Amino acid sequence: MRKLGGVSTPHHKNTATSPVEEIPTPPEVRIPMSMHIGAPAKCIVKVGDAVQVGQLIGEAAGFVSSSIYASVSGKVKSVDETDAVTGYRSVSVTIASDGLQTPYEKLSPPDVHDLPSFLEAVRASGAVGLGGAGFPTVAKLTVKDAGKVDYIIVNGAECEPYITSDTRTMVEDKDYVWNSLKLLKKYLKPAHIVYAIEENKPEPIRLTRELAANVQPGEEPLAEVKVLPSLYPQGGEKMLIYNVTGRIVPEGKLPLDVGAMVINCSTLAIISRYIINGMPLVSRCITVDGSAVKNPKNLAAPIGTPVSALFDYCGLKKEVRKIIMGGPMMGTAIPNADMPILKNTNAVLAFAEAEALLPAETPCINCGQCIKHCPMGLMPSNLLTAYNLKKPENLAKYKANLCLECGCCAYSCPAKRPITQYMKLAKAMLRDYTAANANNSK
Ligand code: SF4
Ligand code: SF4
Repeated sequence: MRKLGGVSTPHHKNTATSPVEEIPTPPEVRIPMSMHIGAPAKCIVKVGDAVQVGQLIGEAAGFVSSSIYASVSGKVKSVDETDAVTGYRSVSVTIASDGLQTPYEKLSPPDVHDLPSFLEAVRASGAVGLGGAGFPTVAKLTVKDAGKVDYIIVNGAECEPYITSDTRTMVEDKDYVWNSLKLLKKYLKPAHIVYAIEENKPEPIRLTRELAANVQPGEEPLAEVKVLPSLYPQGGEKMLIYNVTGRIVPEGKLPLDVGAMVINCSTLAIISRYIINGMPLVSRCITVDGSAVKNPKNLAAPIGTPVSALFDYCGLKKEVRKIIMGGPMMGTAIPNADMPILKNTNAVLAFAEAEALLPAETPCINCGQCIKHCPMGLMPSNLLTAYNLKKPENLAKYKANLCLECGCCAYSCPAKRPITQYMKLAKAMLRDYTAANANNSK
């Protein structure tokens, strides 16, 4: 197998052995109707409505969309457009909590007995890719020909520095994850299930191996546990597929085109929780860490909780100069701690000045480090030149569209060039160019 790029970053997994702590219910939550890939959910509540935990407040608006549920019990305080983490505006529902956390009275575990009822349960759970991607899980699992699923790969890589929310899920919710795997085996009938975990997570590896070994005489293990090197971005979908199966997802194709499906371990835990308890996705585990945080922890918090409530719980020891939602490599810097946590927020990092300052950029020395470390085999330095010269035809030639925005190029660049940020702009330029060409050829 050819070796893909990637970088060895410091792990900073400070909270890997910190059990998840539930934060006090916040006085109010702000829940955006758009916190997944695809169409925003359609808000079905209005100001003054009383809601309970797990009650539907946003209906999935299409196949690639996701339902959204109240994460606290109380009264709808406002329904308005607010700034979203993505930089776009989104309709959000603000709920003033009554502090009671009353579960919605109509909740009950779904009847799952065949593939359609399983998929319906996944849809109703509100599950999306909890590793950060936010893709609606039911859309991923709905395949025209179930026989095409050769490999189901559980993503337990969690390769970004600092983040340990998946690690804690693999420890504390291991049975929920395993139960979902049994259902996937039963209804999608993959030939192989591989549970992929990076080597820097000894406890999840040990526990998952125990589960895999717990079989009746003559029975095959449900899943193979595959321990992967700790190399960022090991958890990237295409990386994982290649490193587990040796198959390359061709340009413009999907994992299923090579018989593979990758699902995050925390997403699997949420699906099982819903099927067993009837409670959809209303809260999640978030790692809170960074140089400005006094007591880094893993917290369970209702969706829509303001980031400030997480900081109040963990305490701050230095002035916060930068807040990142997600990991330091692929996460998004947010403007303030009023922003709410979303379904796919796996971490909130707060950094003090020393870590927040960007180093001064110097000219390219043509060292080729960015090319060597790009996991997609791109030539970031050439792409940067094409962008600066405003040559979208060269961006197309050098395949800017394949960029994962993983940050390996910027991380490895000795000239400290913010290549990843430029790559985002380059991809936008290429999209405009491609759209204009398509319009001209009509
Ligand atoms: S951000 Fe894009 S160009 Fe840079 S290393 Fe990652 S995939 Fe390659
Ligand atoms: S790593 Fe930085 S300095 Fe080296 S070739 Fe790439 S852009 Fe230039």
